[in-house]
Order: sequence, then C-alpha cells, then structure tokens
Amino acid sequence: MGRRKGHNKQSSSSNNNFSSHQQVTNMMVDDEDLDETTESSNLDDPISDEPGDSLIGADKTSADYYFDSYSHFGIHEEMLKDTIRTKTYQNVIYQNTFLFKNKVVLDVGAGTGILSLFCAKAGAKHVYAVECSQMADMAKEIVEANGFSNVITVLKGKMEEIVLPVAQVDIIISEWMGYFLLFENMLDTVLYARDKWLINDGIVLPDRADLYLTAIEDADYKEDKIEFWNNVYGFDMRCIKKQAMMEPLVDTVDQNQIVTNCQLLKTMDISKMALGDASFTAPFKLVAERNDYIHALVAYFDVAFTKCHKLTGFSTGPRSRATHWKQTVLYLEDVLTICEGESVVGSMTVAPNKKNPRDVDIVLKYSLNGLNCQVSRTQHYKMR
Ligand code: SAH
Repeated sequence: MGRRKGHNKQSSSSNNNFSSHQQVTNMMVDDEDLDETTESSNLDDPISDEPGDSLIGADKTSADYYFDSYSHFGIHEEMLKDTIRTKTYQNVIYQNTFLFKNKVVLDVGAGTGILSLFCAKAGAKHVYAVECSQMADMAKEIVEANGFSNVITVLKGKMEEIVLPVAQVDIIISEWMGYFLLFENMLDTVLYARDKWLINDGIVLPDRADLYLTAIEDADYKEDKIEFWNNVYGFDMRCIKKQAMMEPLVDTVDQNQIVTNCQLLKTMDISKMALGDASFTAPFKLVAERNDYIHALVAYFDVAFTKCHKLTGFSTGPRSRATHWKQTVLYLEDVLTICEGESVVGSMTVAPNKKNPRDVDIVLKYSLNGLNCQVSRTQHYKMR
C-alpha cells in the first residue's frame, strides 16, 4: 500500500510534490535569486487546470479524503501502476499456484481487490477480501464484472472488527507496507488477522521485510529543502526549518549519492513476529566507501516471499528501480566530513507514536570520530 500513504501518498498522486532528488537538485537557486526585483511573474502563464474539490467525487469533499484517502481511486491507481510492486505479487501468485490450489485466502486491505483476483485466478477455493474504505464497494463491482463472485467475497469493514464466515484461513496475503516500511502501521492489522484467523501451519505473504540504512551526500537538495527557510524573500523562517528537519522526506535518491555501505537494521518475520516487534532499537555502523560529505541517512526496505518455488521479492532501495515508496531521507543537523574507511556508528529507535499510532517516531543517535570530523548527536524525527 504505499501508502500512500496518508497525506504523502495522496499528495504524490494528485500533484508532483515528491519530485525526484535529481530533478530538484537541478533547479537549485541561490539565496540572491530570491531578491524580489529579480523574480519573474507568471501573470502571463496559463492557470493550471488541477481538479477542484468539487470534482474529486460525486458525493465527497476533500475533507472526506483527508481522513480516508484510500476511498479515492487515485491512490489505488498509483499502487497498481507501481509494476515492481504489483507484478511481484502477480508473479508470486501465478508462478506458485501450488500454494493456492483449493486454499482459503484472506486478503487484508484488499483495495480494488487486485490481489484477491490474482489468487482466485490461481485456483484458490475461496478468497475473503477485507477492505475498510469506500473502495470496498468498487471491489465488489470489480469482482462481479470479472465473474469471480463465486470465489471472492468482499467484506467491507475493519479487519479488527469483521467477522469472517469461516473459522480459519490457509493463507493471508496483504500489501501493508508503508513509507519507511512502518508508516501507517498496517502491519499490526496483518499480525492481528494472522493471530485470529490463520491456521497453525498457514502462510503469510509476504513473510519477510528487511529495513536498511545508508548514508548519502545531498548538499543541493538539503540546501533546497532545509536551508531554504533561513532566508525566504528576505525573512528569517528558521522556525520552519526545525520542523522540516524533523520530517523524514520521501523521495528517490540517486545511487551515486551513496557514501557508505548499506546496513541491515531490522528483519521482520511476518509469520512469527509479535505485535510489539515493530518497535525496536537497532545499532548500525556505516563505513564510508569514499571520501565525501554526509548530509543525510536514508532508509529503505526489501520484502520477500520465501515460501515460493524460488525466493521472490523486491527492493525499494536506491540501487533498484524506483517504486512508489521511493526512499526515506533523514537529514542530519551536521554535515559530516568522512574519509574512506571511517564509520558513522549509532542506533535507530523506531516506534509508533503514542497519541497517533499511524505516525512513526524515530530517534537517531549517531557519532563520527574521524580525522576531519568529530560529532555525536541525537535527533528526533516524526513521520506523519
Ligand atoms: N491490496 C490492494 C490495496 C493495498 S493498500 C493492492 O495491493 O492494491 C492497503 C489497503 O488496506 C487500503 O485500501 C486500506 O484502506 C486498507 N486497510 C488499511 N487498514 C485496514 C484495516 N484495518 N482493515 C481493513 N482494511 C484496511
């Protein structure tokens, strides 16, 4: 679900807020360029024809979508068009029909019903497609239109509240991953469904998620996104800079920006892990592979379906083809000057926000004791 997530996803599907680092670095301007006398006007430009609120849906306002972005087709369009994501699920299902033949499947967060349709086509005995947003109504129509009403039952409601017509299921399939893997906290919903409905030796797809950390040089983009607030049309807006620093940025990172190794932070075994295991503290050691500056740490995840004939999965890392999850960039207060072989060591603590469990709190501790740079600091971030 890439959720998508939340405001991020939604804005990325409806406008171009999340342009790539690459593009944006090319558009950097000097502070001097903000001098009002040098700015040009766009009075002669045509007004963009972005759809207004009234066009979003017949009986919905933008406020409805703010709280329930999955009810709008735009977010599902973005996920479906992420072919790395959707084709991996399709391959897992179509190329491993032995897993599905005559099995009862639970699709947690079915959206348009795409995964349920794949499973039905692969020979599942029955598929229960649970979806809490208004998209459930569309999923019902889609199932009918494609002649799968006998095999797929769409249930509209929260997974945590729904009553299945069967006592147990053989397989749970879900696309629950959020930005930074854990944003939106849908993993808890999958674990809840697993503990309540899955038979003893049942399988969960996907069954492994790995969170990674690396470090990048990112002077241009940090200048554009963070230092920008130092001087805005001649005014000091550094109070916003503090907030901008705290918000991890979802964007694509060019692999040439990577300065260190990529360190595995945390492996999650979705079929075995406990509910609380999505909160953790993990140590890291990032060793520089060249002399460079470090402006940010970057997190990304891989997912794997280990029960397939051959191991299948995908990566959302900067060295792989981009997915709609992009990567998650955490800017550092300090610019680290690092020499090849030196390492940034520290730990990352990740936990759902206590007040709003769909948000993620991140505490980053890092230190570098290098030839040219000695730093030790703790930074707090919040994904929301
Ligand atoms: N399976 C679809 C959609 C994935 S997005 C696909 O792969 O394209 C995740 C979906 O889960 C969203 O549509 C969201 O509305 C739904 N969802 C999230 N939490 C849920 C919950 N607790 N119960 C039911 N559905 C949920």
